[in-house]
Amino acid sequence: MEKTRKTIALIAHDHKKEEIVVWALKNKNILEKFDLCGTGHTASLISRATGLKVKAYLSGPLGGDQQIGAHIAEGQIDIVIFFWDPLESQPHDPDVKALLRIAVVYDIPIATNKATADYVINSSLLK
Ligand code: PGA
Repeated sequence: MEKTRKTIALIAHDHKKEEIVVWALKNKNILEKFDLCGTGHTASLISRATGLKVKAYLSGPLGGDQQIGAHIAEGQIDIVIFFWDPLESQPHDPDVKALLRIAVVYDIPIATNKATADYVINSSLLK
């Protein structure tokens, strides 16, 4: 059965979590029209701050990025908002790269900073 709502995955590295929560609060009225999911901590922070339901996968370093990548490959995720941290190396850097790669393979919009996320979330293509 074809899904009626698109699914957005939300991910932020530790130093970017506050930024994604503020962004999600600002865009709550748009985000509530989508099914939401995210890596463990990011999902719970956004859910707590906005009151929106955000399905939580594992934490990023424990496989959450890979879970989201797998769901992209299965056609279950339509958009990724991924505030990654360019100033700190991540223990799960290979997983981060793999997620960026699989999003490109499947031609999924993947916003990796707030400016791009603003463009994506306000795109007329979302309607
Ligand atoms: P987290 O994972 O939301 O569980 O912190 C994000 C990440 O580091 O990829």
